[in-house]
Amino acid sequence: MSNDKGTLYIVATPIGNLADISLRALDVLKRVNLIAAEDTRNSKVLMNHYSIQTPMLAYHEHNEQSKQAALLKKLASGESVALISDAGTPLINDPGYTLVESAKQAGFEVVPIPGACALIAALSASGLAADRFMFEGFLPRTSHARTAIFEAYKSRQGTLIFYESSHRIVKCMDDVLAIYGADHKVSIARELTKTYETIVTGTVLETHQRVTADKNMQRGEFVVLIEGVDKKQQKRDGLSDEDMETLNILLAECSLKTAVKLAVQLTGQAKKALYKAALELNSER
Ligand code: SAM
Repeated sequence: MSNDKGTLYIVATPIGNLADISLRALDVLKRVNLIAAEDTRNSKVLMNHYSIQTPMLAYHEHNEQSKQAALLKKLASGESVALISDAGTPLINDPGYTLVESAKQAGFEVVPIPGACALIAALSASGLAADRFMFEGFLPRTSHARTAIFEAYKSRQGTLIFYESSHRIVKCMDDVLAIYGADHKVSIARELTKTYETIVTGTVLETHQRVTADKNMQRGEFVVLIEGVDKKQQKRDGLSDEDMETLNILLAECSLKTAVKLAVQLTGQAKKALYKAALELNSER
């Protein structure tokens, strides 16, 4: 795989089950000149499983800057490089953003090789609406900062998705219960594609009880999904989804009076309708 200019491939790898890798990904990993891997020891398992002997170089958050120059040099000399992370799609809460940005700026071709991604796998099987969603990556560690995020999303449409660690899953569900209330719908996807895969979808109260009562539900890797506000609920006084979204964003940043004033200018809708909607949105916060 040598051209005048090398290509950078962004290759998704399995999130647990080694069979979850595409034929194209295997072909690329076999044919590139170098694989930049988040953890070479971890990726060795995958390489051995598929008899891939391509040289690997460690590329992780602690050496991103120093290794980047070397990788760009390889690309400049016509070699092709595959970027992989420990699991799933690189860059999705994994290293690679600055490499992709620099490679594109330098005029190299960057080619995605799609595959597993924990948030997409969780969403697809959660039973929550998947037509619109927001992904927050890992939430902050403190309860105070977490609840501020839940408050900000609480009255928005679309499913809220985030990654959570086993150490914080119980505390996180405590916060979800405090902000969203017992009856709101949520889903917890644990150990996806692995032996103990568990996807629990139900009310906040049901899932909270399950997580606190069952120690096994506090182990492994987690994706948490929270249902968004019903579309119908947001259609007020002829305001469109976009109008409500604009108003909601403004309300999170400014006073009610300023938010309404700006929303009138941005949406062209009547002040009266926007004011009424703003009061309702604020009371739901
Ligand atoms: N790049 C990965 C992707 O495409 O999903 C995400 C990497 S991020 C550093 C790792 C987090 O993703 C884990 O802490 C967990 O929250 C989530 N995750 C990864 N694999 C998972 C799995 N098999 N089941 C549930 N969550 C998983």
